Amino acid sequence: DNAQPKKPDWIRVKAPTSEGYRKTQETIREHKLVTVCEEAGCPNVGECWSQGHATMMIMGEVCTRACTFCNIATGKPPEELDVFEPGRVADAVAKLGLNHVVITSVDRDDVEDGGALHFAQTIRAIRHRAPGTTIEILTPDFIRCGPEALEVVVAAKPDVFNHNLETVPGLYPEVRPGARYFHSLRLLQRVKELDPTIFTKSGIMVGLGEDRQAVVQVMEDMRAADVDFLTIGQYLQPTPKHHRVDRFVTPEEFASYEKAAYGKGFLMVSATPLTRSSYHAGEDFERLREN
Ligand code: SF4
Ligand code: SF4
Repeated sequence: DNAQPKKPDWIRVKAPTSEGYRKTQETIREHKLVTVCEEAGCPNVGECWSQGHATMMIMGEVCTRACTFCNIATGKPPEELDVFEPGRVADAVAKLGLNHVVITSVDRDDVEDGGALHFAQTIRAIRHRAPGTTIEILTPDFIRCGPEALEVVVAAKPDVFNHNLETVPGLYPEVRPGARYFHSLRLLQRVKELDPTIFTKSGIMVGLGEDRQAVVQVMEDMRAADVDFLTIGQYLQPTPKHHRVDRFVTPEEFASYEKAAYGKGFLMVSATPLTRSSYHAGEDFERLREN
């Protein structure tokens, strides 16, 4: 039976209509940028864009992977990396006047360093043009690259290094083919080893078929790899071709995940149905720095 469970009323989103929303949209268009907010059909776009928060996606719109939960187009990317993109991203960040920016990308297994240098250049360009903005990157796993790729990114010193585990290890073959759970975990651990001043962050989606015990195990694995921040959100099926929603996790279960995660020592946890890896990332980070 492939019927989807009915969307509960705690998954509700406001229509994007505000002035702030339009300003963000204009800046994105004007700088010819791609956002994961749009590409992934994120339910929070109305709220985030109204406040000038957008997650920029670099290195094109076509991904060389085909994760079954993800709405990004997959295939062979038609273009080389755009050497002007880091500058355009930095201009947009300056123009939006962001306190905090999240930069992510598609996977570029067709590029030798996986786009590591492009990430580093983007971080440096933002530092130069918007020195007051804290920078969070959400990276691919660089699985086909040597260890230097990660070193290049870390050397550019993002404030937060995020790499999502996405789901529990038992669901990798069907949800995240092409990735390896322990490779991703080790990547996060290496970031901390290379530069302990960088905060590390990871996240998973729930409602894909995992059980509570497996989620708690992922939390323990992340803490063993010294991961600082955790996000957990409800998986939503972008189109009928994508992985089905197994169930809608209740707000109470999310609250209980949050409590368990803080108990395991994470510095910052966001676990709600509409949590996305970049949702409220700026405010949360700001709060942490004030404390
Ligand atoms: Fe964009 Fe992230 Fe907000 Fe979604 S949660 S709209 S991806 S910034
Ligand atoms: Fe989507 Fe990232 Fe998977 Fe590519 S690697 S399909 S962008 S989740």
